Amino acid sequence: MVNTVAYEAIKRELDAAGITLVAVSKTKPEEDILELYQLGQRDFGENYVQELVEKAAHLPRDIRWHFIGHLQTNKVKLIAPFVQLVHGVDSLKLLKEINKEAGKQGRVIDCLLQVFIAQEETKFGLDETELASLLNELTNQPLSHVQVCGLMGMASFTDDSEKVRMEFRQLRTLFEKYNPGTWTILSMGMSSDYAIAAAEGSTLVRIGSLLFGERQKK
Ligand SMILES: *Cc1c(COP(=O)(O)O)cnc(C)c1O
Repeated sequence: MVNTVAYEAIKRELDAAGITLVAVSKTKPEEDILELYQLGQRDFGENYVQELVEKAAHLPRDIRWHFIGHLQTNKVKLIAPFVQLVHGVDSLKLLKEINKEAGKQGRVIDCLLQVFIAQEETKFGLDETELASLLNELTNQPLSHVQVCGLMGMASFTDDSEKVRMEFRQLRTLFEKYNPGTWTILSMGMSSDYAIAAAEGSTLVRIGSLLFGERQKK
């Protein structure tokens, strides 16, 4: 069930701080998305390509769809015609594939590089060395159909808020260190930790369960 009261409160709080809210609607039905759409929400995030493609086909055209999952190269072409921002890019290979498919669509696709900040082994992303070398390669061979707009990261899933804070702080530090001057988006913060992320300089949070309720395990 959609929690419209929580939505209005979170939205107001983030607007006041100048932070973009991406409503993460993965596994949730289209009616739920429309309910927030009617309240003015336009940025929605999805993790699964097939699900995103189906929802985008049925729902209003002015929704800005964020792909926040782990994108496989063979699926890039399915979302290239319409995706607003790809959050989880963690290799040059994937970036080149997005560039190729964006070129076919006559588009420039905005992307974020995913950095690994958590101490958990399961999280995807680049470490600092890999980030630096990927950026270096991009300088040497610019891709004209992708625009890297910043970084994305996920903190450890833990009750230890100081640990989460340090991880976000680390991502913010990398953002500032490697920002060529054109980056504007630091995507960090989810339902459990968005307030910490906001305090640590996030410009965009990805919130699912607080708005749409808990998800069934997939
Ligand atoms: C599912 C997901 C979210 C939203 O998680 P909630 O805890 O439900 O807010 C945010 N970011 C990513 C990358 C996700 O996969």
